[in-house]
Amino acid sequence: MPARKPSIGGNWKMNLDTAGVKALTGDLLKVLDTSIADTVDVTVFPPFPYLAPVAGALCDAGSQLQVGAQDAWATPNGAFTGEVSLSMLKDVGVSTVLVGHSERRHVIGESDELVNEKLLAALDAGFEVVLAIGEKLEQRESGKTNLVNIGQTCLGLAGTTAQQMAKVTLAYEPVWAIGTGKTATPQDAQDAHLAIRQAVGSLHGEDVANALRIQYGGSMKPGNAADLLAQPDIDGGLIGGAALSADDFAAIVRAAS
Ligand code: PEP
Repeated sequence: MPARKPSIGGNWKMNLDTAGVKALTGDLLKVLDTSIADTVDVTVFPPFPYLAPVAGALCDAGSQLQVGAQDAWATPNGAFTGEVSLSMLKDVGVSTVLVGHSERRHVIGESDELVNEKLLAALDAGFEVVLAIGEKLEQRESGKTNLVNIGQTCLGLAGTTAQQMAKVTLAYEPVWAIGTGKTATPQDAQDAHLAIRQAVGSLHGEDVANALRIQYGGSMKPGNAADLLAQPDIDGGLIGGAALSADDFAAIVRAAS
């Protein structure tokens, strides 16, 4: 099985202001040793208005930290009021696009088809893509965890080629664990990750599945990161709340390294 380089994302969601973004970026540059990039891929996902300044600050500092967008619109520039295109994201130094976050799916109402459209467009435009999937509490309680995750994986990845999969990371984020302080047990998370990897194997073959990185997201913190990351199919994390503290985020990155 190929070794998978761990990958950690920090989703800042709709938080912070100019001063807060500047402070957090500066703190991350202080606490994260530049050599960390040799062992872990680290991406931060600031809100849209702060993508350019964060990308600029990281570039000026010679940092290997990547900048990701929390979402993107699939079609090119034009009459899509309120949306942000992939070419705009590329223009301001974004390398990665997150699609299908549970808040996009369940608060904004995005369908699997729209998530898939965004993923394909972002891959076509040369971005790294993180596809987030995960079951709701009632789905877990009714025994549908794998069914939901496999469905979202297959629909989200529809139309991808095996070659494109080198630019895709999955993020398994049980909806009931996001921002709630509740975390899946390492074994429950491992079971879900294995089922997701097997689903990717049936879509694209074993080599692609074995090379795919699957992050865990849902209240990952410095105190639980090591146990989650020790699981054989957990290759990193997508971090929300703890990504707003440079020290906590750096502790998680170090746990992955
Ligand atoms: C997230 O926003 O993707 C997330 C996992 O949030 P939290 O870590 O706060 O649960």
